[in-house]
This record gives sequence, C-alpha cells and structure tokens, in this order.
Amino acid sequence: MYYGAIEAGGTKFVCAVSNDQFDIIDRVSIATTVPDETLDQVFTFFDEYSLKSIGIGSFGPIDVNKNSSTYGHVTTTPKPGWRNFDFLGAIKKRYHIPVAWTTDVNAAAYGEYKRGNAKNSESCLYLTVGTGIGGGAVVNGRVLEGYGHPEMGHLFVRLHPDDTYQGFCPYHENCLEGLAAGPAIEARYGKKGDQLEKEDHVWKMEAHYLAQGIANYTLTLRPEKVVLGGGVMKQKQLLPLIRSEYRNLMKEYVSTPDLEDYIVAPGLKDNAGITGCLLLAAEECEA
Ligand code: ADP
Ligand code: ZN
Repeated sequence: MYYGAIEAGGTKFVCAVSNDQFDIIDRVSIATTVPDETLDQVFTFFDEYSLKSIGIGSFGPIDVNKNSSTYGHVTTTPKPGWRNFDFLGAIKKRYHIPVAWTTDVNAAAYGEYKRGNAKNSESCLYLTVGTGIGGGAVVNGRVLEGYGHPEMGHLFVRLHPDDTYQGFCPYHENCLEGLAAGPAIEARYGKKGDQLEKEDHVWKMEAHYLAQGIANYTLTLRPEKVVLGGGVMKQKQLLPLIRSEYRNLMKEYVSTPDLEDYIVAPGLKDNAGITGCLLLAAEECEA
C-alpha cells in the first residue's frame, strides 16, 4: 500500500506515490488543461497502485471550509473549466479512500516543516514567488486555515519610489503579487527574470517588495522560519537582498532567529509541495 500525492499547479500537475517512509517510488508531470483531460491522466497514473490515501495541494483559490456546500471546489480561478470544479469530489468518487485537501503552498509549508529547512522549528511560513505569489503556514503542527485559506500574495505594499509599473493584479492596486511576481518583472523590464540576472536594480526593487511582505507576515504570525521558493527565487542574489531590506524595514522591533536562519531557501528544493502532500495523505489516514 502506498501514499498518493497531487501537487496541482496552474501550469502542471505533479503526481507521486511513496512508500511508508515517504520515499517517492513513482512520479509523473501532467499539463494542466481542462479538468476531464488532466484528471484522466491522473487516474491512469494512480490506477496502477493500491493507495492508502491521497494528499492534494491545489492551486487556488479553493474552498477549504468543511462547513461550506462547495468544500473541495476550486472557486474563482480564471482557468477555463476549473472555476467551481469539484476537484476533491472527483478524486473521492474515483478512489474510496481518505483524501487530504489544502492549498499548494500550505502543502509546501508542511513539507518544509516536517522534512525541510523548518524541520527543527515550531512553525513555518512558505512563500512561493513564481507566476503568482502565494503563502502558506504551519502553526501548532497544522496548516493554517480559517474561514478560508490565507491569500498572502495579495498583501498591500508601499510602492518603491522609482517604480512606475502599475502592477498586474486585476483586483488590487499596489498588491505584492501584482508588483513582484514573475510576470510583473517581465512587464516592467520587457524581459523575463532569468534574462535580468546582472541588473542589480531589478533585484533590489524585488527585494524591497518581498521584504515588506515578510515584515507583515512576521508581525502577524511570528513564524520561526520563512521559506522562499518559486521560479523567481532561483536568483541567488535575492535572499541576501531580502534579508537586508527586511532588516532596514523592521528596525529590530521584533525578535526572530538570525536572519540567515530565518529567511531561507527550501530544504526540499522543488519537492517541498509534493512531500507535503504525501505527509498530509499519511495524516489523513490517522484522522
Ligand atoms: P509557477 O508559479 O507557474 O508554478 P514557477 O515557480 O517556475 O512556476 O514560476 C514561474 C515564474 O518565475 C515566471 O514568471 C518566470 O519568468 C520566473 N522565473 C523562472 N525561473 C527564473 C529565474 N531563473 N530567474 C528569475 N525568474 C525566473
Ligand atoms: Zn491582488
């Protein structure tokens, strides 16, 4: 018997199965098209295995409120076919086993908390900086959810004095995702982030925004570890710049671990999300 995991991203789904020790014994990457087509391939993959449970970490927004009639649905996404789709229901209908359901970033936070760079910490916040910005957190050993799941990417930030870009979030002015996710960098400079490596001002501005986010998460949640993942964080010069901007902003008002140990890269590299899904699958068996 195995654990199954679905890291459901807006671009691709990664599915994996593991043994009891959470060693991944098989995995597949599937393009996210329309639900029927994508899930057909998900089923083909999992049908080969006898599964104890499945953990899903999904792109959002999703409904995680167990009292809601649309619990388990993807909600207001613009992705064709996925809006109001009963994702959890579709998986449960196919496999009559326990299924854990949370956001992709909550799953990644859980993976880092249990097995990654936060494994010796009491709490952990995980932020992905990619096509969008999203954050998840583990507090008291559980992923943080309330009436809904956190939407940490849409935090309001102060505009950098040299920034003339409007941001791409259709909902908010001056929101972190709109000003600092990968597409904002591309729109501001006319080139993708990976082509701008040597442009120091690009990363200083990026750090200015991300540090504001982290300062606000610190003030509201006081996590013990902040793990930063996603495509944009592949720029290695960013982490030290973020720490330094954070230091300037916070002015030592609140205590944290040393910033080198506080604001860190994922210990599980690109496997934080899928590992978290496997661990949540195992927890769901015991629930
Ligand atoms: P997703 O968010 O879709 O899951 P990623 O985390 O890979 O995917 O994020 C994709 C975004 O990250 C794109 O906007 C891309 O331009 C940017 N990106 C990817 N690699 C790099 C890099 N090496 N440097 C800067 N930006 C990058
Ligand atoms: Zn926004």
